[in-house]
Amino acid sequence: NDGVFDKLARRLAIGRPLENLVAVDNVSMVVNRGETVGIVGESGCGKSTLGRVAVQLLAPTSGKVCFEGKDIATLPAEEARRARFKLQMVFQNPYTSLNPRRRVGETVIEAAVAHGLVAKADARDAAIEAMGRVGLKPDFIDRFPHALSGGQRQRVGIARALAVDPACVVFDEAVAALDVSIQAQILELLVELRQNSSFASVFISHDLNVVRYIADRVVILYLGRVVETASTATLFDNPHHPYSRALMAEAPQLKAQKKTFTPIVGELPSPLSPPSGCQFHPRCPHAMPRCKTDQPMLRQLGDRHFSACHLEVGQGEEGRIEEAGKRKVVQ
Ligand code: SF4
Ligand code: MG
Repeated sequence: NDGVFDKLARRLAIGRPLENLVAVDNVSMVVNRGETVGIVGESGCGKSTLGRVAVQLLAPTSGKVCFEGKDIATLPAEEARRARFKLQMVFQNPYTSLNPRRRVGETVIEAAVAHGLVAKADARDAAIEAMGRVGLKPDFIDRFPHALSGGQRQRVGIARALAVDPACVVFDEAVAALDVSIQAQILELLVELRQNSSFASVFISHDLNVVRYIADRVVILYLGRVVETASTATLFDNPHHPYSRALMAEAPQLKAQKKTFTPIVGELPSPLSPPSGCQFHPRCPHAMPRCKTDQPMLRQLGDRHFSACHLEVGQGEEGRIEEAGKRKVVQ
């Protein structure tokens, strides 16, 4: 909504009909410049697929990815190349995402040099500068990945993504493999980097606390579908979808809040044979007869707040004590 050039629009649906698996279905999402959108869900919910499609590592079987308002698939080759280059990804595993035989300074700057953003003669200085932005000293550029800690490697991954002056960076579980104290340092770094630049980011995580810390807006995915989306403040103060509430019931640091919800039960169903109606109904403590047959559509509940659930606002939010199920949930 900040004008065409301030916007990355993504409308996508990916399916692999041969395997009858739809990893992400009917998801529509817009990320504005300067904004961080958190994507949350259990593993296997399609988060990574969505991120990979967004940065063009995977092609959607239907739907489109728009950059600055234009469908990338319809752009002339040179423009499409530029768009792809402006979409960067930071991966979960800092141990495997760096080339072990390449000095990290080269890794950080190679894309910027290849795309003519940095002259070859200036590559060394540019690498030092890029490393400096993520808190790594100049002498790091000549080191190999094996000589770096996990947190330092992830800093290198971030420096590599930022070295091309990206429009959007997708962080796929970017802190999940790190120790908690290192996680906090990397998150702090990301918040700082975002304050000083205008790139949009998509932060994929299974960890609600991490997303709450970093995101302006949150999208909750369940079996490849958006079940709820809202600003971070609205979502955490006033979650509507029972799945969102169940995730919050399981997030340790959120348990201290005054609202407590029934935790999630059962396994994530196979995306190969998703349940009928509302796909969450087999695990939902509030399921009603119609939930088995009618698939709920996203319904607007407030400003940028949407939820795909048949419950009315306020319904099913009362605290519950369930001794029989060995779960004690009190409001
Ligand atoms: Fe639960 Fe029904 Fe809402 Fe699905 S639609 S989350 S089953 S109440
Ligand atoms: Mg994943």
